[in-house]
Amino acid sequence: MKNLIDLHVHTISSGHAYSTLLENIAFAKNNNLKYLGISDHAPMMPGSAHVFYFNNLAILPSIIDGVDCLKGVELNIINENGDVDLSESSLNRLDYAIASIHTPCFEGKDITTTYLNACNNKYITILGHIENGKYPCDFDKVCAYASKTNTLIELNNSSLKPHSSRVDANIHMPKLLNACKNNHTYVLIGSDAHFCNDIANFSLVEQLIEEYAFPKELVVNYDMELIEKFILKKAKLNLK
Ligand SMILES: [Zn+2]
Ligand SMILES: [Zn+2]
Repeated sequence: MKNLIDLHVHTISSGHAYSTLLENIAFAKNNNLKYLGISDHAPMMPGSAHVFYFNNLAILPSIIDGVDCLKGVELNIINENGDVDLSESSLNRLDYAIASIHTPCFEGKDITTTYLNACNNKYITILGHIENGKYPCDFDKVCAYASKTNTLIELNNSSLKPHSSRVDANIHMPKLLNACKNNHTYVLIGSDAHFCNDIANFSLVEQLIEEYAFPKELVVNYDMELIEKFILKKAKLNLK
């Protein structure tokens, strides 16, 4: 299957990533990616960019060197209420938002409730790396509510790498795939690239998709109509 999109990509503006926006675009172009997302860590992550950086992304052209650039953010979910570290007025200027739990930015115990509340934020397009065993949740409940609220579940390729700081993602991701399948929840594979050469590297997730025969019709990356519905037309904002 051809991957059309990678929305989980960082630039040097995240503070612990190593490629510029133009380096990322060049790599995406050489690998025939149609859509490249810019999803730097939101301001509460140590070393990341100020809110002005996100507010000003609108000045970038929407197509750069032939690649469609979507302007986004990887938000920090900061508590069990599902609160995040950019205001609605900032989020309203962006094309999409991933929301994730990161250790330096999160205080809370009930992770399932945290994710359910995050799904209620109409600006949160995608829940990021929920397969992280450091923050275990009830996948069935989260996937069911994600389906109901048109929130995408990310399958994060970086979580499966041997040096990942996340815990037991290789054990949790098959369970997450099963919950998505049972609840007809749409998923978006993300590289979580912190260096340009990793953009659209979905190899580890795709091995699991094959191994567990996960339905490809639930994978947004492969389907232009699903990309239009969930990302470009912001299906969540239009939910009645
Ligand atoms: Zn990062
Ligand atoms: Zn993250």
